[in-house]
Amino acid sequence: GATIGILGGGQLGRMLSVAASRLGFKTHIFEPGANPPAGHVADRVTTAPYEDADALRSFAQSVDVITYEFENIPAEALDLIETIRPVLPNRRALATSQDRIVEKEFLTSLGLKCAPYANVETAEDLTAAVEKVGVPSILKTRRFGYDGKGQVRLKDSTNPTSAWQELGETPCVLEGFIDFTHEVSVIGARAQDGAVTCFDPGENVHRDGILHTTTLPAKLNRSQHTDAIILTGQILNALDYVGVMGVELFVTPHGLIVNEIAPRVHNSGHWTQNGCVIDQFEQHIRAVAGWPLGDGKRHSNVVMTNLIGEEVNDVATLSQDSSVGLHLYGKAEAKPGRKMGHVNKITGPA
Ligand code: ATP
Ligand code: MG
Ligand code: MG
Repeated sequence: GATIGILGGGQLGRMLSVAASRLGFKTHIFEPGANPPAGHVADRVTTAPYEDADALRSFAQSVDVITYEFENIPAEALDLIETIRPVLPNRRALATSQDRIVEKEFLTSLGLKCAPYANVETAEDLTAAVEKVGVPSILKTRRFGYDGKGQVRLKDSTNPTSAWQELGETPCVLEGFIDFTHEVSVIGARAQDGAVTCFDPGENVHRDGILHTTTLPAKLNRSQHTDAIILTGQILNALDYVGVMGVELFVTPHGLIVNEIAPRVHNSGHWTQNGCVIDQFEQHIRAVAGWPLGDGKRHSNVVMTNLIGEEVNDVATLSQDSSVGLHLYGKAEAKPGRKMGHVNKITGPA
């Protein structure tokens, strides 16, 4: 059978690997860190830094197609592996989501609404950005931010210069603060033949910058629901995308605002493992393998709750609940803020 190469061996790589195995594929993980969660379930693991061209080359040669679980793959590594095997989702999807300014320019070019924003690369830019966007606002690093890391909120009382210093004076975007009623996300998928399907939007609640719960169904009226699905399809088509994507949205009385996109399976899509016959991981593997997409119809109402740090030690209690699907990542150390697992509680039929 064919082998799927996965860049990144975290929990997303692990769950992709399980889905791939279930469909009869072999998996080969490339991961710089030692003892990755995906290592326990993959057929093969290469532990090497992205700078190791030989390791990358033999990884690429050993697989039929390459996909990834995170968007911060160095450009030089991509240059190399792309010449050997197809990398899906494509380069443009990666480049677009790696940089918040490029991302917002792309989304705006599609006619989609983003938060008001300004680029910050110099002290002069910062002054102009605060002038343009105002406060309250959020200063975010253009690259590498996740789980609310790499962002500082600006209020009337905040000194923008110290906020930027806190972020290491790296290139940033200043975003106007959106007064949203709630947050939702759409997990969309696009196949190699251009077919698109979306899972139902989920409603997301964050705690300390980290996703806490995703609840299905989300509070959306019919037109908001349709808007969310259509804009996701627009993004997927515009990027000639293949695979699963997460689209994070703010819901406001004046319509949906796109927060950010992730060119991969997404934490807010974990509910699909117990809420649908075909989940986001199988959907992604199907897409990158060139198969037809599955039916992502939701059969149940679900609440997904992340288990962060020590919360994972509550497993004895959690496993008592017969309506809960338990997903643990097998990570050794329950550090604060670390995603250790999640639970999907079925709350009724869809
Ligand atoms: P992720 O782990 O989802 O990749 P991230 O570190 O990339 O997160 P964002 O998604 O940009 O960060 O922001 C994290 C959260 O902060 C959002 O889900 C939202 O709750 C809040 N937030 C971000 N930007 C804004 C904004 N412009 N207005 C209001 N709230 C915001
Ligand atoms: Mg993000
Ligand atoms: Mg986010």
